[in-house]
Amino acid sequence: MIRKFNIAVVGATGAVGNEVLRVLEERDFPVGELRLLASERSEGNFLEFRGEEILVEKLTRDSFQGVDIVLFSAGGATSLEFCPAAVDAGAVCIDNSSAWRMNPEVPLVVPEVNPRDIAMFRNKGIIANPNGSTIQMVMVLKPLHDFSPIRRVVVSTYQAVSGSGRKAIDELRIQSGELLNGRPVEAGVYPHQIAFNCLPQVDSFLENGYTREEMELVHETRKIIGDQGLGVTATAVRVPVFYGHSESVNIETTDKISVARARELLAAAPGIHVDDDVNNAIYPIPVEAAGQDEIFVGRIREDETVANGLNLWVVADNLRKGAALNAVQIAEVLVKEYL
Ligand code: NAP
Repeated sequence: MIRKFNIAVVGATGAVGNEVLRVLEERDFPVGELRLLASERSEGNFLEFRGEEILVEKLTRDSFQGVDIVLFSAGGATSLEFCPAAVDAGAVCIDNSSAWRMNPEVPLVVPEVNPRDIAMFRNKGIIANPNGSTIQMVMVLKPLHDFSPIRRVVVSTYQAVSGSGRKAIDELRIQSGELLNGRPVEAGVYPHQIAFNCLPQVDSFLENGYTREEMELVHETRKIIGDQGLGVTATAVRVPVFYGHSESVNIETTDKISVARARELLAAAPGIHVDDDVNNAIYPIPVEAAGQDEIFVGRIREDETVANGLNLWVVADNLRKGAALNAVQIAEVLVKEYL
């Protein structure tokens, strides 16, 4: 008989939490009891899982009795406060927030890239899920880096509003409707209007002039690839797209990787789909990546200004591989290899 695991989803009513439920269903994860947790705002609501209506409960320190794995997607403060309680109750935490990502004792994992790091969950009982922008980038960097070590990465992101959660999806929808009807709009989630606009700010600014999102791309990439010397510089931009982050990625490798070889390496890598036929206007775009599990890469070109440079365009659904899918894939390795 297949062993089942009791699962708790913290932030089940949110954009990521909702997707976690869909991914658990679709991948037929061996779920025993399922506990749905959120704040008191959503207490008493019901969410559907495998055709059943399941009650949403208020998260407390006592929410984790008998739970094997907790998937957290409820912000960093909630993870910092409640992961230790979940671990004390005997559960393993997979955390979608940034709270634990750079803790040296906590593994930061993309299963296709550094699956063996999962074993480090024993240190604290926590595994961190990287930032969605980092996940889609390292998925593409890894096969190229294995062929010829990457020295420097210059990335600019074009990030969908769903990366900021449920309220931001509503904000883009409402602002778009208002503006098309000639009415003024108010900014709420973002510091400026997001509809028909681009904002060169994702998350808050740090003292060095970069945003948190940009520095997460730097530090998380180094941790996952396992190379603290890797040069990474990032500009993160919020764009009026509902689902799917896009990235322009420029890399310099130690030895030359031809465009043809890069296509081969990427096409052979798990979880990556090469869409690169510019004569037929085939390249990754967010409306096609939305709802898909793969990382899509195209526009692969030589950077003609340096000896060993490539330009790539990388698109993925930020709620799927950028968050929920990656977390469930970590849970799959955990139950198969460790629990
Ligand atoms: P969201 O749509 O705003 O959802 C937030 C969820 O957290 C809701 O279920 C909310 O419950 C719950 N929550 C908030 N405060 C809570 C509290 N004090 N106690 C218990 N539950 C609480 O946000 P999201 O986009 O899903 O993001 C959730 C987390 O995932 C964040 O840490 C985010 O950084 C991370 N993440 C998001 C993405 C993405 O693409 N969106 C990607 C990677 C990581 P209520 O219904 O009760 O308000």
